[in-house]
Amino acid sequence: GGSGSASTIKQVKLERESELRIEVGNDAPLRLRLLNGTAEIFGTELPPEIWLNFPPRLKFAVFTWYGATIEMDGATETDYTADETPMVSYVNVHAVLDGRRSRAKASSPDDSGSSQGPRVIVVGPTDSGKSTLSRMLLSWAAKQGWKPTFVDLDIGQGSITIPGCIAATPIEMPIDPVEGIPLEMPLVYYYGHATPSNNVELYKVLVKELAGMIERQFTGNAESRASGMVINTMGWIEGVGYDLLLHAIRTFKANVVLVLGQEKLCSMLKDVLKSEPKVDVVKLQRSGGVVSRNAKVRQKARSYRIRAPRSALPIGAEPAADPTRVVPVNINRDLLHLVLAVSFAKEPDEIISSNVAGFIYVTDVDIQRKKITYLAPSAGELPSKYLIMGSLTWLET
Ligand code: ATP
Repeated sequence: GGSGSASTIKQVKLERESELRIEVGNDAPLRLRLLNGTAEIFGTELPPEIWLNFPPRLKFAVFTWYGATIEMDGATETDYTADETPMVSYVNVHAVLDGRRSRAKASSPDDSGSSQGPRVIVVGPTDSGKSTLSRMLLSWAAKQGWKPTFVDLDIGQGSITIPGCIAATPIEMPIDPVEGIPLEMPLVYYYGHATPSNNVELYKVLVKELAGMIERQFTGNAESRASGMVINTMGWIEGVGYDLLLHAIRTFKANVVLVLGQEKLCSMLKDVLKSEPKVDVVKLQRSGGVVSRNAKVRQKARSYRIRAPRSALPIGAEPAADPTRVVPVNINRDLLHLVLAVSFAKEPDEIISSNVAGFIYVTDVDIQRKKITYLAPSAGELPSKYLIMGSLTWLET
């Protein structure tokens, strides 16, 4: 550990089936490379001898199946070796899924049931390692040549796009340990708040739209269909959170439910899903390496990705009788510094059911001329004139 000291090079020898758990220091990136043997970071193999740069505060583990030597250069908040990990049970799950994908591929594409690969949903409390397990299963599948679809229903700490969204994207290569999920063509629906309790009905509607869209894509693409999907969920598992999990399981027709580190949730799900015979509910151990993040760290991680949610109703919006009603927003100063989603909708009544093209950031509002000035990731005309506002802002930090 230690921080602020001059950078030092350090070698770590890892025995088979052990991992090096690292939290990069707060101030500077960490360089790391594989000196010999083989090792992976959350399912993606490290190239031999090439230095990789990890940004400050990143938390990750370098795992080896057969033994490896790792070299590190830079200050860490923590780094330690652990030889007790749930990795063998995780890779066994992968092997079962892989078998199902092969069977799906071998069966006639006309048989919509048997040509469907596994639809895996990962559930569990916050900080149980759901995102990490999703990532490993996707990377291992991609390494095998599959193109599984990653679905992220976590609007708070999602890893595909900005908070407030649910999204999906095909994974064609093992996920880069530094860059994360590739962002070429994600399918994104904008919900606009950091928690589903703001508008549970809207959240459900969007989950249904996303599932329907993926279903249509699978119909026309046997490869994606056989590869199946991995769905990451929120850590909210009580009350409405539990209802939303069940809603997601059923809406996406998940047939493998992986429950991380929660006996009670696992037995509850087993019980309600036993009448749905094609669903396997599997309990998996949580890794001791998963770092818990308190509410403050989570909030910070969120604002890191967009910069701060504001828990308020959209300006001008009444708590509506119909929660999926779209309310027009007046051009006023409150729009300043907001992140707005750009809808693909052609007509107002399509806004709820349409996915979004991307996001703009409002830099100026001219009330007299009813004009807003914005920053967008690329120049040119926006794909639609409908912008969606939620309760998420982008405050300079
Ligand atoms: P949430 O419900 O908040 O989305 P989660 O259950 O998805 O959380 P993860 O995001 O997978 O949890 O893990 C929490 C943190 O722990 C992440 O920063 C992740 O990189 C880190 N982490 C996971 N596994 C390990 C490990 N074996 N060693 C070190 N760090 C790890």
